[in-house]
Amino acid sequence: FAPWDDPNAKPLIRFRNVTKRFGEFTAIDDLTIDIYEREFFALLGPSGCGKTTLMRMLGGFETPTEGQIELAGKDIARVPPNKRSVNMMFQSYALFPHLSIWDNIAFGLRRGRMPKAEIANRVEEMLRLTRLEKFARRKPHQISGGQRQRVALARSLAKAPTLLLLDEPLGALDKKLRQDTQFELMDIQERTGTTFVIVTHDQEEAMTVASRVAVMEDGRIVQVATPDAIYETPNSVYVADFIGDVNIIVGRADPQGDKVHLNWAEGQPKFIGTPASPFEKGQTCHYAIRPEKISISAQKPEGATNTVEGKVLDIAYLGNISTYHVELAGGQVIKAQKANNRRISRRSFTWGDQVWLSWTDTAGILLER
Ligand code: ATP
Repeated sequence: FAPWDDPNAKPLIRFRNVTKRFGEFTAIDDLTIDIYEREFFALLGPSGCGKTTLMRMLGGFETPTEGQIELAGKDIARVPPNKRSVNMMFQSYALFPHLSIWDNIAFGLRRGRMPKAEIANRVEEMLRLTRLEKFARRKPHQISGGQRQRVALARSLAKAPTLLLLDEPLGALDKKLRQDTQFELMDIQERTGTTFVIVTHDQEEAMTVASRVAVMEDGRIVQVATPDAIYETPNSVYVADFIGDVNIIVGRADPQGDKVHLNWAEGQPKFIGTPASPFEKGQTCHYAIRPEKISISAQKPEGATNTVEGKVLDIAYLGNISTYHVELAGGQVIKAQKANNRRISRRSFTWGDQVWLSWTDTAGILLER
């Protein structure tokens, strides 16, 4: 499933040079993006980057100042919310407290003047889809938070919208329930075939549920790709840092064939990595390396592309793995992760140990900014 790689695939949603200003303030800045049918598309970014504004324009609650928004080939930028086949599930769920779960799900269908028998069928189908059959007669305060979340989802899907917008849908759930619910969401999205666009500031959530993730910064999308492509080949320090843990070492580029060597400190071995874009000799660059891609050993490893010696400063024990903070000559600190071997001891190294770090030249990525 990768319609974005298919030149013949028609996008369901197209944003064309969309700008949204609130007075002098630009919340969305000349944004262009395509989203395909059946995608589970995540908008990810820090608070204030414009995720909700983008979503609200899709829902019809805001109109763009400039640009076009197309849904299934039609310009919908100025079409009101109730006239587009889009539904939005809000963080607060907004269930009616005095209505049963059954009636909450039926509410929108009744307002749409659907025949009674058809409503009943549809509600039963939604109850099955979200595994809520047992709770149909209860009121919202008589079920758990996770179940309420499922009611809200059932209600938003009842009218079979072309597109469902989810604004931080799992924000009110605790971590464990949140993780279980992420899998339920993915399952329901797959079974209904509805296109989902989710707003979240939780990078793990975006990476778990989404077919593609758009990382936003200051009203712009800075990278859009599949979760693994975003993780493995970020296009900037901002993206690398926003998604997961990363070491950034700043230095000067020395291009050698398809690799770049990084001069980062006098008298230290250069780090060899794979450039994300072309570099000129002497250009400032940022070398990004994920902690779990670095091996730690007591002896200098044979045959590794990048090796450097350092001293263990700090250790964070995380159960199955530990993160080691290793200080290199010149004060540069690098984080490296190692699986804990329980049969020997909890940790492989201790504070003050001299260790060797090593990694491959494909693990290190050179970024311009
Ligand atoms: P959060 O994760 O905190 O919800 P967000 O990425 O969803 O943030 P938005 O709610 O889209 O961010 O807001 C983007 C920017 O636009 C913010 O700086 C916000 O203050 C501003 N903004 C949003 N709505 C309005 C409005 N109606 N009038 C003025 N400024 C607004």
